[in-house]
Formats: sequence, C-alpha cells, structure tokens
Amino acid sequence: MDNRLIYLDNNATTPTDPRVVDTMLPYFYQHPGNAASRNHPFGWTAEEAVDYAREQIANLISVESKEIIFTSGATESDNLALKGVFEMYRRKGNHIITLKTEHKAVLDSCGKIEKMGGEVTYLDVNYDGTVDLAKLEAAIKPSTILVSVMWANNETGVIQPMKEIGEICAKHGVLLMSDATQAVGKIPVNPKEVGVHLMAFSAHKMYGPKGVGALFVNRKKPRVKVTAQMDGGGHERGMRSGTLNVPGIVGFGKAAEIAGQEMAQDSERLSKLRDKLQKQLMDRLEEVYVNGNEGHRMPHVTNLSFKHVEGEGLMMTFNQNIAVSSGSACTSASLEPSYVLVALGLGDDLAHSSIRFSLGRFTTDEEIDYAVEALVKGVNHMRELSPIWEMYKEGIDLDSVIWAEH
Ligand SMILES: *Cc1c(COP(=O)(O)O)cnc(C)c1O
Repeated sequence: MDNRLIYLDNNATTPTDPRVVDTMLPYFYQHPGNAASRNHPFGWTAEEAVDYAREQIANLISVESKEIIFTSGATESDNLALKGVFEMYRRKGNHIITLKTEHKAVLDSCGKIEKMGGEVTYLDVNYDGTVDLAKLEAAIKPSTILVSVMWANNETGVIQPMKEIGEICAKHGVLLMSDATQAVGKIPVNPKEVGVHLMAFSAHKMYGPKGVGALFVNRKKPRVKVTAQMDGGGHERGMRSGTLNVPGIVGFGKAAEIAGQEMAQDSERLSKLRDKLQKQLMDRLEEVYVNGNEGHRMPHVTNLSFKHVEGEGLMMTFNQNIAVSSGSACTSASLEPSYVLVALGLGDDLAHSSIRFSLGRFTTDEEIDYAVEALVKGVNHMRELSPIWEMYKEGIDLDSVIWAEH
C-alpha cells in the first residue's frame, strides 16, 4: 500500500472548508474586537460580524436570529438545554424522556440530572434504530417536562421521525429538544416546522471550525427559557455568559451559508458514493450487514458489520491509510461494544465487528475505490487467520458452541 491518507471519519469531525478559513482570518488580528465592547469601533465591527453570522445560521434552519445562542460546541449546547430546562421548569415537573442511542453529551447530562433529583426514562429503540412512537407516547406522564431525541445518529446515521415526535410532544404539552449535530448543514433541518423547541448543533461537524456551536431556543409560542449554566457577563440573552469566539462564529456563519447553497448537490453526490462503497463491500465479501434503517439514513453514512471479524483488528489492517471508526470504544479494562449498536439489539459479535464509514464534502470517487480494495483485502486477511471463520465455513453452528471461560 502507498502512503495516501483517506479520511472517512467525517462524523467525528469535518475538515474546515478553506472558504470558511479565509472568512475567519481577518477576525484574529485585523479585527480583534470583543463583540461586547459597545463603546468603540473594534467592538462594533466584531458585533456586526457576529450578528451577520447569527443570521446566516438562523437562515439555514429557518429560525429567527435572536433564537440562536452561541456556545463552545454541541456538548455545551446539550448540557445547557437539558440542565437548563430541568432547572427552569422544575416546578412543573422533574421527568425527562430520552433514547438509549443518544450521544454521551445527552446521556451524561441526564445522568447528572438524575443526581440532582430528576427522573429520566431511557427508551429502547426499534431494531432499525428508529424511535418506537407508541412507547414514547406511553412514557409521557404528568411530571414530564422534556423529550430529547437526536435528529440523526452519529454512529448509524439513522434519522428519527421528528415530525411525528413533535406531534406527540405538542399533544401532551411537553417541550422537545433535539441534538441535531449530525443533521444540520447536511440535510434540511427546520425545527419550527416539526415542533422542536430546543436544538443543539456544532460548527465542526459541518465544515466549520472546532470549539463553536449553537443552541436554538424557541422564543414564541411557546417562549422557552433555560437557566444559564455559566455565570458571568450575561451574554447571549442571559443564557450563556462568556466572551464570544468571534473568528469561530464568523466561520460557523460562513459554513452555514455554504451548507445552504451546496447541501443538495453534496448529499446527492455523497449518497451515490456511499451506496457504491456499501454495495461493493456487500457484493465482494460474505456476511456483511448494514446497521440501522437504510431508508431513513444520512446520505453520507453507512455502518457495516463484518461478521466474525473484530472491527478493531480489522482497522489495524488498514488504519495507517484509511480513517474510519469502529463500533467498539476502548475503555481502560476491556473493549466494550458500541452501546448504540447494542441498543439496536445487535449481539456482541456483530457489534464488535462493525465499522462506521462517514464520507464528506472532500471525499472523492477514487478514494472510495481505493478504500474498497483495502477493506476487501483486510477482511479476507483477517478471516483467513480466524479459527471462527474456518468453523463457520465448515458449517458449524457457532451459536451452539459452548465457549470455555477465559
Ligand atoms: C459531535 C457530536 C456532539 C458533540 O459536539 P462537540 O461540538 O464536539 O461538543 C454531540 N452530539 C452529537 C450527535 C455529535 O455528533
């Protein structure tokens, strides 16, 4: 193999679009103002740039610019939405409903809320990763103040039926929050149209810079408020104190503008490339399975299980060249399978053998061809070495084998 590097891990982070970088540069040295400095031109220039970016971002998701609260990223936005709603609406109730397949920023915030006296229901999902709407509705009770469902999953790309979820929440008068970090800028997202009241997203997942994100907070019908989690100067309508990251916000705005213009063509091109990658692998290799609903999936993502191959081991055969994610997160003591795939009902074997491919704006056709060759070679190589694969080929029913404890 040669020394080329292919980046197929765009769900972890995207490269910053060079057009975004160009837009940011003047705001480091030439325009150094603090957007909160109201008494001189440096401050005014910074504030104008922030206002402009706020509008670019609001336009992308069809909301008012006043409804955008800037944060340091989606992790902070998730924390602010969940803990902020819990504190603000505590008198109304203490119950929150979410899914087992949410991002850790949501799940860990919910864990903290439980320690603060909240009650959280973590719903199972269907085998295809989508929410079970009947279960969701059944979980709502008089003390429920918030439902939190991610727009699109970071591991599988599965898109949730936000409109149906919004209808259920509206019917019962509970607020709806969505972590839309993987969806904004890649597919059309309009929170107001589907009844989402709070929505978290991040610049670095949509070709903007790292360390800047936003929380959409609905201002009218209903007027939603969150208790600030950061105390200080009362920036961002009192919901998030701290000097604004002006260059980052300018870049976020530019990224939003480009996304609005190029989303349709990007997603058409990427879904073809993604489909080609998936089809080639499934045609040329045995026992490859798609994880998550293929019909309701982000256009640039596929999560595949290569049965009887350890994802981590497989990655070692090509990760000098190809960047992907495996469905296992290395914890200190053991290799745990992805909790998202386990929640979909995958057994440990399939969860351990999964790889997430996430393409992006800069992925080329040639890179996909190259990745397919490397993957086919890697999987065949791993299986040749595997006694389990040999047993499978000999027709031994592996589920009936009683394995020795080790
Ligand atoms: C990346 C990601 C986050 C965290 O975003 P940061 O901006 O890196 O804090 C949260 N939720 C989802 C779904 C993500 O993909």
